Amino acid sequence: MKIYVLRIGHRPERDKRITTHVGLVARAFGASGFILGDINDKTVVNSLRKVLETWGGTMEILAGVNSLNYIIEWKKRGGEVIHLTMYGLPVDYVVDKIRNSRKDKLIVVGAEKVPPRYYEIADYNVSIGNQPHSEVSALAVFLDRLFEGKELYKRYVKSKIEIMPQVKGKKVVAKY
Ligand code: SAM
Repeated sequence: MKIYVLRIGHRPERDKRITTHVGLVARAFGASGFILGDINDKTVVNSLRKVLETWGGTMEILAGVNSLNYIIEWKKRGGEVIHLTMYGLPVDYVVDKIRNSRKDKLIVVGAEKVPPRYYEIADYNVSIGNQPHSEVSALAVFLDRLFEGKELYKRYVKSKIEIMPQVKGKKVVAKY
């Protein structure tokens, strides 16, 4: 089952850091793809590629695709679309159904104001609480609920380094 994250509404002049963090959360919380919709911001893409080079993993990264067309194609291929928004249904009401469907999942997160079309086209509009916070936190909580916490123990292929958890201090092992 593919789990991809689509970041829409990225504004290059102010969102580089937060969009990079959306990509980092996608990777670290178990997604297999990160799509930056409608714009190709090389700063964001290069930062994420560097993390993959060092820390491993096979997450696919795409930028500049048309978001709505991507969603339409995703659905045509049998996948489902989950839009994270504070206006949606509480995550606990829907996450079991989403997990059990076994369909590929495209998780959409916005920036400022998300156009109404995204609410209509999504199979699920899901809230992580009904207070405004951030695409980074919303994505992390959603993926953690989807994977029931198991994603935190995933190991990453082709990593150059790996952390050995310590009671105190830092231990990092070079793998080759
Ligand atoms: N008005 C926006 C909304 O619809 O959720 C809040 C904008 S917020 C700065 C940017 C993104 O963070 C949203 O598009 C949404 O994906 C995510 N987000 C923020 N709060 C959320 C919440 N409580 N539940 C789910 N997603 C949230």
